[in-house]
Amino acid sequence: MIGLVLALMALPEPADLVIENATIWSDGLDDPASVLAVKNGKFVYVGNSVVGWVGPETRKIDAGGKPVIPGLIDSHIHMLNGGLGLSQLQLRSAASKQDFIQRVKEWAESLPEGKWVLGGRWSVESWEVPEQPTKEWVDPVTGDRPLYLSRMDGHSALANSAALRLAGITRDGPPNPPGGVIDRDPATGEPTGILRETAMGLVTRLIPPATPSDKYDALKRAIKEANRNGITTVCDIPPIADIGVYQRLAEDEELTCRFVLYPTANDWTQAAIMARAFSPRPEWVKIGGFKAYFDGSLGSRTAWMRAPFLNNPEDDKNWSGLPMPILDDGTFDRNARAAIDNGFQVIVHCIGDQANNVLLSKLLTLYDRGIRSGSEFEQDIARLKNARHRSEHTQHLLPTDIERFARLGVIASMQPYHKADDGRYAEEYIGVERCKSSYAFKSLLDAGVTVAFGSDWPVVTINPFLGIEAAVTGKTLDGKNWMTQENISVEEALKSYTLRAAFSCFLENTVGKIAVGYAADFLILNEPIFSGRVNWGSVRPTHVFVNGLQVLE
Ligand SMILES: [Zn+2]
Repeated sequence: MIGLVLALMALPEPADLVIENATIWSDGLDDPASVLAVKNGKFVYVGNSVVGWVGPETRKIDAGGKPVIPGLIDSHIHMLNGGLGLSQLQLRSAASKQDFIQRVKEWAESLPEGKWVLGGRWSVESWEVPEQPTKEWVDPVTGDRPLYLSRMDGHSALANSAALRLAGITRDGPPNPPGGVIDRDPATGEPTGILRETAMGLVTRLIPPATPSDKYDALKRAIKEANRNGITTVCDIPPIADIGVYQRLAEDEELTCRFVLYPTANDWTQAAIMARAFSPRPEWVKIGGFKAYFDGSLGSRTAWMRAPFLNNPEDDKNWSGLPMPILDDGTFDRNARAAIDNGFQVIVHCIGDQANNVLLSKLLTLYDRGIRSGSEFEQDIARLKNARHRSEHTQHLLPTDIERFARLGVIASMQPYHKADDGRYAEEYIGVERCKSSYAFKSLLDAGVTVAFGSDWPVVTINPFLGIEAAVTGKTLDGKNWMTQENISVEEALKSYTLRAAFSCFLENTVGKIAVGYAADFLILNEPIFSGRVNWGSVRPTHVFVNGLQVLE
């Protein structure tokens, strides 16, 4: 009898790893939990007792009451560029014209002869004198060595005279390419060195490309950087041409980050054929869909707005941004159709309110069989919802489109740190009224929209805790508390970095949650984050586990 009872109680097998004395937080975990157990890379227990889980081989960690949260998911990141950038000139923190020039000078002097000065990520908005850089700033310190430095948002760049010469850009031509602008002195026609959007391609195509092995190394560096910041899964946006590097990465048995790829490609019919053949280890590296661009950025005034910017130059008062040519020439519709027919997500860079508005309309059209009401129309909407297409950035919205996002099930993939950054100057660009429906985290969540958070690294910092700070406090980089009516709670911000982010890339049954059966991707943090005043700048993971294995001891 006693034997029977014991057999029925069937004590669990000891776990590989037990964390105790933790403050466990997870989306979907309603009761307090202080203990978790991991076996074979998965959570096997979440609760408050270690009984039965600890055997002679079990590793035990006392979390000291600190927060334990799921590994964070960065829903929008450029791992390859970020990794390559780790070995290029970083100008993000350049504080003035003099500082900018000095750093370029020192960097150029450190390079072997003939090597391009590359990198950038400069932003002049917070300088005391926010001047636009020109080639005259850098020509004296670079000479014949070509220079190409992208602005922080990657939507414009500075080239020096040597680079412009190589590209054949002079006062006589070429004309602006479709979707791009070569800034010129209005009096002389002389190029200033600033290239916008597609005009950047005139120079970037001349830059000696990184080799596949450079890129593989860059990805490995990027993974380290992501892990160090508590990121264990990424939605990464590489050019389709680099997909081979990810194929190689997928064969790496010791991968410590999961990748869902959304490559950029000109022809998605071709890309879908390639993507279907891309089948290494889908739990680690898979292709989720493809990415298109509808517009540019706020800082470069290339975001596509319904109404003009407020800080346009006198001779161009009606300028309201730069919609991409794929909208007019049928490319987007053809590509989106190919993605949908092959079961891939469509994700579209939409910063401006008009870009977002047009995205919603275009997506609906792709599912709409022309029935305007009734159950068949609802079926069309349901199919659209199930596909989980995404607006990337979702930065500025017409107020009426917030409900449409919810109704159509389009995911808002947002980067809260952009609010901290753009909040310094957004009102000057688009006015207070339009800022009220910008970075509308709370309004979107309240309306029932899935909001997934990410960084957009290397455009801004990869650190997700600074993203959480921006979403929770509304604090801008120049110290204002801005548009705080859109602030959300720490828990809501974490949900958007975990389970909602997992949902945005069809991983919600695998990662993003501390629950039995989920992959054991989780962090122990150094500081409490749920109560009192949090100094977000100093929050970091002390332990990072991916699939139950500790990375970065
Ligand atoms: Zn991006």
